[in-house]
Amino acid sequence: MKLVRFGPKGGEKPGILDRDGQVRDLSGVVADIAPATLAPAELDRLRDIDPASLPVAPEGARLGSCLAGIGKILCIGLNYRMHARETQSAVPAEPMLFMKAVSALNGPYDDVPIPRTSTQTDWEVELGVVIGRPAKYVSEGQALAHVAGYCIIDDVSERDFQKNRSGQFTKGKSCDGFAPIGPWLVTADEIADPQGLALETRVNGKVRQDGRTSDMIFGVAHLISYLSQFMTLHTGDVIATGTPDGVGAGMMPPQFLKAGDVVEMSVTGLGHQRSLFVADD
Ligand code: ZN
Repeated sequence: MKLVRFGPKGGEKPGILDRDGQVRDLSGVVADIAPATLAPAELDRLRDIDPASLPVAPEGARLGSCLAGIGKILCIGLNYRMHARETQSAVPAEPMLFMKAVSALNGPYDDVPIPRTSTQTDWEVELGVVIGRPAKYVSEGQALAHVAGYCIIDDVSERDFQKNRSGQFTKGKSCDGFAPIGPWLVTADEIADPQGLALETRVNGKVRQDGRTSDMIFGVAHLISYLSQFMTLHTGDVIATGTPDGVGAGMMPPQFLKAGDVVEMSVTGLGHQRSLFVADD
């Protein structure tokens, strides 16, 4: 299933794609696409519904972030060798973790504001993993059973805030709008192998990132197991699994986003995002 949230910001309704890719209104069936919706029994209930029997969403309705009520966004840094190399960083011995505030969430086609003092706003296409069942001390072998689904996440990053402004990455990762996710939350049954996906970023039409999840240093199952040794991963938590090479900071010379730039991203089976970057007001 491909689950979405459609409608104005803050007033999104739950939806599901039908066979023709049309959004159907699920609001008569569930209140929202939220952690409670991701329980295996709830997903089974949705699977039994024929989307064609549901009302069609209004033509051209905005899509919001594909999941409401996300508790935490855990991000993995330097999880692709070539990306570590382009940032002149050592390949980490174990997964490098940082967090992104949930207030950064954005719809997949919403504008992304460039903060007033930003000089180095950058793109990072990533496979987002959505937790379906709480995970604590899970083994790698059991880890994927805790996944409800997958989505695209752009781990938008302000490199100067991230690296030069004292302390951790948080300032450069949590600006408003710096976490476009979606368009769809694709349930795990549709993604046979999360390590078999292609990821692409285009900036103003030019391909900048062209990676494969098979190149991850630490795969999805390892990441879930690893993170669950430190904290419980709750239903609805999202893991951003790292970005392949081709970010603006790695270009010669580095290239960063300015108002008017358009970033498009796609991941096999997970759809497409398009973000216009704008000056913040
Ligand atoms: Zn990232």
